[in-house]
Amino acid sequence: MKVSVIIPAAGGGSRFGGDKLSRDLRGRPVLVRTIEAFTRRDEVTQIIVAGPPDDFDEFVDRFGAVLGFHGVVLVKGGRTDRWESVTLALESVSSDATHVAVHDAARPCVSQDLLDRVFEAAARLDAVMPGVEISSTVKEVDRDRARDVATSDALADAILGEETASTIEAMPVMRTVPRQSLILAQTPQVFRVDLLAKAASSGAMTGVTDDASAVAQLGVDVHVVPGDSRNIKITRPEDLDLAAAILSPMVGARP
Ligand code: C5P
Repeated sequence: MKVSVIIPAAGGGSRFGGDKLSRDLRGRPVLVRTIEAFTRRDEVTQIIVAGPPDDFDEFVDRFGAVLGFHGVVLVKGGRTDRWESVTLALESVSSDATHVAVHDAARPCVSQDLLDRVFEAAARLDAVMPGVEISSTVKEVDRDRARDVATSDALADAILGEETASTIEAMPVMRTVPRQSLILAQTPQVFRVDLLAKAASSGAMTGVTDDASAVAQLGVDVHVVPGDSRNIKITRPEDLDLAAAILSPMVGARP
C-alpha cells in the first residue's frame, strides 16, 4: 500500500476568526502538528498540502521551510470550498500511489491508533472513513421559523437603540432524529486512488463537504471504522484550547 495524503489547508478560518493553521499548538503551528502525524507512517509515500490560492506566497513564506523538510508538495487550493482544494491537489498525486487519504488540516489531534485502523481497513476495502457515535439526542429544527426572544436587557435596548439589542435566537423543534444509525464523519478518509480520481473527473466532488460522499455517488460502498472523539476539527477559538489539552503529555492522544 502506497498512500498519498492530501491535506486541504486553504480555508479562511471564518468561524475561527482568522488563520487557525498558523496558531501555536504546544510549540508548533497547527498545520505542522497535523502533518507530523503522517510523516511517521511507513505506508505514506507522499504528502500534498493545498494552501490558500490568494495568499499563497505568504503561506509558502510561513510554512515552506518546515514542509520542505518533510518533503511535502505544496499546491494552490480552492478559493471557497474544500472540495475544490482536494480536486486541485489530486492532480499532483504521484503515479505510483495505490491509495489517497484526505485529512483536514484543522485536525491535528489524529492519533496513530486511529491511523492504524483506517489504513488497515483501507488495505482491504475500497473506501474507508472514521466516524464517531453521537452521544447527544439529535433534533431537527426549523431555522426559518426562528424567533428572537428579548432578554432582560430589553429595557436598556429600548433606550439605547437596536445596535445594542440583545436577544436569544429560539428555533422550534420539528422532530427527534433516531441516532442509532447516525455517525459523525471524521478524517482521514482513505480511498483506492482510481476511485477518488473518478469521483473528481465525473463531477461527483462538486459541492460535497467530505470526500466519501463523492465516492459513494459512484455506487462504491464506503465503510466506517471507529473514529476518536479526540480527533476534533479546530473550528472555533475554544477548540484550540481543547486541542492543546488533548495533546498534553498527561492525556497523551498520540502514543
Ligand atoms: O471550513 P472547514 O473547517 O470545514 O474546512 C475543513 C478543511 O478544509 C480545513 O482544513 C480547511 O483549511 C480546508 N479548506 C480548504 N479549501 C477551502 C476551504 C476549506 O482546503 N476553500
